Amino acid sequence: MEHIKDPSIYRNPVILQSEDLTKYILETAVYPREPQPLKELREATRNHPWGFIATLPDAGQLITLLLKLLNPKKTIEVGVFTGYSLLLTALNIPDDGKITAIDIDRKAYEVGLPVIKKAGVEHKINFIESPALPILDKLLEDPANEGSFDFAFIDADKESYVNYHERLIKLVKIGGLLVYDNTLWGGRVSWPEDKVPPHARPGRDAAIEFNKKITKDSRVEFALTSVGDGLNICRRIA
Ligand code: SAH
Ligand code: CA
Repeated sequence: MEHIKDPSIYRNPVILQSEDLTKYILETAVYPREPQPLKELREATRNHPWGFIATLPDAGQLITLLLKLLNPKKTIEVGVFTGYSLLLTALNIPDDGKITAIDIDRKAYEVGLPVIKKAGVEHKINFIESPALPILDKLLEDPANEGSFDFAFIDADKESYVNYHERLIKLVKIGGLLVYDNTLWGGRVSWPEDKVPPHARPGRDAAIEFNKKITKDSRVEFALTSVGDGLNICRRIA
């Protein structure tokens, strides 16, 4: 990581193995088309001590395109942080669309909230401060919620992705999308275990297990992309 000069883009160069190529993608294609509110939210997140975990704008651009193709009305997000992916979702669903957004940390959400309010999309968001798993289980207690979501973005604790997937595959309708972030875990999924620093092992192991499971899951069509920090795009087909 020492060769990465700009820490704000630090995950992509690890995946792409090139800071110059990362800059090229961001500066040529991503920043010029990034909506103003998302720029502002990125700015508001810059000084947060964990700012680097925010969704990367190139991943955001792909998610935006998926949202435009799918045209979802009811979505769910697991892992909000300061709200970059949440705001981009809110900007791309209709005015009467609804997002259920779950995070254990409301304080981080409040960093982005003024920007979300200014963008005029807060009314689409139902923010729930809680660990995600019990909320997903609670949603499943009401059969009316089964197959009712058009789109899910999953970006919370990586160790729980397998558990989230088992719930969300029931909550998202057939034809709907489930998008998982950080599935290449800074590229470490392909590193020999002894080269991975201890702090990064749980995330790496979880990503490896999740990618294996999803590849075998016949309920979804799926692509593992190397955009951002690895984005698994799944479409429920059964
Ligand atoms: N999507 C966000 C980034 C999310 S970072 C963005 O666009 O910037 C991961 C988030 O997952 C953190 O905010 C963290 O508080 C949250 N998280 C971690 N464990 C969680 C859990 N068990 N349930 C819900 N949220 C969790
Ligand atoms: Ca992420």
